[in-house]
This record gives sequence, structure tokens and C-alpha cells, in this order.
Amino acid sequence: MLASLFRQTHLPFDGDDPPSAAPSPPIGAPSDIPADASAAAVAPPSPAVVEYVRHARARRYLLRVRVDGSVRVTIPRRGSKREAVRFVESHAAWIAERLRDAARVRTARRPPLPVEDVRALKRCAAETLPARLHALAERLGLTVNKVSIRDQRWRWGSCSRQAHICLNWRLIQMPDWVRDYVLIHELMHLRRMDHSPAFWRHVAVACPDYQRARTWLREHGQGLTED
Ligand SMILES: [Zn+2]
Repeated sequence: MLASLFRQTHLPFDGDDPPSAAPSPPIGAPSDIPADASAAAVAPPSPAVVEYVRHARARRYLLRVRVDGSVRVTIPRRGSKREAVRFVESHAAWIAERLRDAARVRTARRPPLPVEDVRALKRCAAETLPARLHALAERLGLTVNKVSIRDQRWRWGSCSRQAHICLNWRLIQMPDWVRDYVLIHELMHLRRMDHSPAFWRHVAVACPDYQRARTWLREHGQGLTED
């Protein structure tokens, strides 16, 4: 897993060596970058965590995601910051995937909570999360049939067609505004069951700060995703 975190991806720079003269990319990259990397469903990483470094000997833009969640972009000799920003934007999906890997590595390194603490947190989640979800649902004019608090390993929440919303007890450990985004995300699945641009428009209306919340989840969400 660590090897994939530090895998670098290369794209030839316009005006640099012709493509035929460029060395072939390392195995596995960039062929694993999806063609629709800039799809609307994938938010670009927050600019605050992207570091741009100019390197006189670099001949290509290089992208690296570190295990701490920071992103470093090397700008080649004849490259520009603008081009580098575009390079990052066009690899948003690849970066998001590596950020999730990095978060999983960080979680694996963290010692587990004592059993009693987990029990207390789960109790607190069962007491507070359903009420918060129902309050948000009411504000948004939506009806939830059932709420369950679960111990999901890789998901923050889920929503079924029967309007049954499952929430991860770990949601109570995150800031209120991020937790609210996850709850709103699941509620918006009552309007649309997919992650289409139309779905994200619903989310944006109900939670204008959702991009910032998604960035927070990528950086601190321990590799869990909203479903
Ligand atoms: Zn979803």
C-alpha cells in the first residue's frame, strides 16, 4: 500500500520533449488514472494542502500524495503554476483515491480506543444522531422511516430506497458541520439515489459548505467514505 502512495505520475509538458522521446511512465501510472478524473462528483483537493515546488531539473509535472495527506506538485523547468494547477485538477480522482489510502495508513497506525470509551461513544451516538437527522430532515421537508446506528468499517452512512438511513457511530467524533454534511448527504439520497451532478446540486443547496466538509473527510476521515 505504501508503495502506491508514493507512486508518481508523469505527464509530458507541452513544448518539452516530443511524446515519443519521453521515458515511459512507471508501471501502474498513469494508466490507473481514470479518464473522467475531473468528473463533477469528485471535488478537487483543497488548495491549502497542495504544495507547488519548482524544480530546475524536472522535465515533467510530478504529483505526490504523502501519507500525512499533503499533496506536492513539482513544476518542471519550463512549466507554469497555471499549468500545474490544471494538472492537479485533471487528476482530482487519482488524488482523492491516494488521500483515502493515506488516511487508511494513518488509521492503521493509530492505537485503538479503550473498549469502555467505544461503548460510551456508541451510546452517545445512539442518543444524539437520530435526533439530529430528524431535525435536519424536517428542515429540508424530508421523511425518514428508520434510523440505525451502525459500526460500519468503511462508510459514514447509507440510505436505502425504503428511507432507512444507517449512520456510523463515529460521526459523533467529528466537528458538527462535517457530521451535518454527512447527514444531509444521506438525506439527499431520499431525492436521488445516485451521485449524479443533480444529486450534488441538491447537496449544495442544503449544505453550501459541503466541499469543505468533503475535504475534511478526505484528510481526517480515516479512509471512510459517505455512501
Ligand atoms: Zn451518497
